[in-house]
Amino acid sequence: MTLPPDKEVSFKDSVNLSFDLARATLEIPDGMAQYIRNVNNVYQVRFPVKINGEVETFIGWRAVHSDHKLPAKGGIRFAPHVDQNEVEALAALMSYKCALVDVPFGGSKGGLLIDPNKYDREHMEKITRRFAFELIQKGYIGSGTNVPAPDMGTGQREMAWIASTYNSYRPGDINHLACVTGKPVSMGGIQGRVEATGRGVVFGLREFFRSPDDVKRAGLEGSLEGKKIIVQGLGNVGYYTAKILQEEDGAKIVGVLEYNGALLDPNGLDVEDVYRYKVAQKGLKGYPDATYVEDSTPLLEEACDVLIPAAMEGVINRENAGRIQAKIIAEAANGPVTFAAEAILQEKGVTSIPDVYLNAGGVTVSYFEWIKNLSHIRFGRIQKRYEEGKNLQIIKAIEGSGHKVPKALAEKICAGSEEIDLVRSGLDDTMRTAWQAIRERFWSHDSIHSYRIAAMSIAVEKIHNSYATMGVYP
Ligand code: GLU
Repeated sequence: MTLPPDKEVSFKDSVNLSFDLARATLEIPDGMAQYIRNVNNVYQVRFPVKINGEVETFIGWRAVHSDHKLPAKGGIRFAPHVDQNEVEALAALMSYKCALVDVPFGGSKGGLLIDPNKYDREHMEKITRRFAFELIQKGYIGSGTNVPAPDMGTGQREMAWIASTYNSYRPGDINHLACVTGKPVSMGGIQGRVEATGRGVVFGLREFFRSPDDVKRAGLEGSLEGKKIIVQGLGNVGYYTAKILQEEDGAKIVGVLEYNGALLDPNGLDVEDVYRYKVAQKGLKGYPDATYVEDSTPLLEEACDVLIPAAMEGVINRENAGRIQAKIIAEAANGPVTFAAEAILQEKGVTSIPDVYLNAGGVTVSYFEWIKNLSHIRFGRIQKRYEEGKNLQIIKAIEGSGHKVPKALAEKICAGSEEIDLVRSGLDDTMRTAWQAIRERFWSHDSIHSYRIAAMSIAVEKIHNSYATMGVYP
């Protein structure tokens, strides 16, 4: 079923309509397609917490979209607008994301209706622990069943509280640390998880720019160097994406858009400096080295090579899609382009690199963290010195044949792998492999008109194959 672009639909419908287009490219029986499309189960909870002597009631959800592989995986969002439909849409995206990048998990997502800015640290801890307790009681948290992670409004701090709460209710579970990912490194987390989604976005963009046919189709040429980029949302994902693109790829971050103001500089902003200013001043207003604009939303429509929405769903919609001037929309957030907007963008020749692929770096490194927790050993611990010894022998052999290896190069070659090196290597490989699969499907199927549907087609096919192999059919 395709929808005419004169009608806007909800986030959940956007995901489901993309599913329908993807499914039409595959041979999947109707009943099975309906089963995959819909959320398997969703738990809604209301619980009381005493805040300053008064009882406040909170409402939250945890949805499991698919359990063809366990545990089911996905973040927990703390936001003042979250609802069950949003959580279900996000859970579905997690299923497709994990399948696409070969992370062997089902898809899940949680949400708590709360404005985290309204509560101090002590109250946030109380609320988070109580929410975690409710989820643990109903089997919605556990290393083999359902593993939460950070999302909008949550981070390492909340994950540490969830892990600690789980441990106190399941004493003796030797794998308790694997019940949640995105923890601080001091509590079983993994190096590189905080930057993972942003770094994954960059790895994905690099791989895109390595494929001349894709770059040409987007109306661009060359690499990321010097490309004009606008980033919407300077939270965790937007910050790392912008910083790495600027510092490692030589891209020009010509605009940074926050909900309460934006900065523009055609020569490129210093992302680290802007970020520090934003954190210190709680906003971008007054930043001395760029043009400040109060109303940031229209700036999504500024001309640039790559627009990176890294905040909310639905920011590019039927209303503004026709005015987007970017050549590429790189979807770092979940669901930033609505289904109706996508049709308009396609008509205009704007390329979307879809969320289901591009922001999969977070869950990929969560997978590495989960493995680390289950294996009870840091990556690199066993092999680092062994590798160093071998590499040193190679340097000695080269020098023994009369060729001097410069000291700095020798040190680089000799170094054994640290956890961060292995995490980044695994993430890079994941993003490269997945992009090659997407572009292969896109270019080889006449009925597939976007990278999103190519990506979804691969994901839905894999999920279907899992259920089929499991013996769901009579
Ligand atoms: N919340 C992130 C996402 O939407 C990460 C999920 C995870 O690590 O499980 O992909």
